[in-house]
Amino acid sequence: MIDSHAHLEQKDYSEDLDSVISRCKEAGMIGIVTSSANPKDFEKTMKISQDNPGFVFPSVGIHPEYIKELSIKQIDDQILKIKENKDKIYAIGEVGLDYFWTKEEEYRKQQQKMFRRMIQLAIELKKPLVIHSRNAMDDTIQILKEEGAKNVLMHLFGSKAHIQTVIDNGWNISIGPLIKRSKDIRKIARDMPLDKIMLETDSPWFGEDKRGEPTNIKIAAEYIARYQKIEFEKVWKTCAQNSIKFFNLPLKI
Ligand SMILES: [Zn+2]
Repeated sequence: MIDSHAHLEQKDYSEDLDSVISRCKEAGMIGIVTSSANPKDFEKTMKISQDNPGFVFPSVGIHPEYIKELSIKQIDDQILKIKENKDKIYAIGEVGLDYFWTKEEEYRKQQQKMFRRMIQLAIELKKPLVIHSRNAMDDTIQILKEEGAKNVLMHLFGSKAHIQTVIDNGWNISIGPLIKRSKDIRKIARDMPLDKIMLETDSPWFGEDKRGEPTNIKIAAEYIARYQKIEFEKVWKTCAQNSIKFFNLPLKI
């Protein structure tokens, strides 16, 4: 009952975030990790977390797709802010590589550089890493290994071909409502050990034809239960325990 990856700072929630959060609590959820992906959203993310103590936990990084619009100075500033607020931040992320949105070799190189800096930041601050990787899994894995990243969550993981590498490295994955539409993700849900799976929504995205909300983790949990041939309750509870452990959340089930 924890959404390990949502974006509550998005303008989709600016009118009614309080009711969204109330609905989550009514649905039996105990926490949401909100991912601040763009430096301009830093303050808003911290404010949402402050307004919802013990329920909304920030993860802060820089999404690779913003590489074209950010200066080195803005990246430096974001890293500084993370360091200054390290006691209120639960993970570094999302960070990683996105070759789907970024085709130019020069920008891809810059993404890799920023990614390495973020991994080192996570190691320095002893925080877990939340990874975004799109069309770039080989390079992502190589960089994670070269930089010695240990505590890793592959968010929206959908690459069947890399599942064994993820397992061998002791990394985690999170599964969202996209599982409904993807045969590959259903196979991943079947083959991944349950103690390495977390639930996520990436809200406000992946809400099908409407705005996504963190309560949609239920859809992911139902599919995982079906494909692992186990009880829904076991998935619901174990995935939350995995999130508590991974992010070191001050929560108990
Ligand atoms: Zn995200």
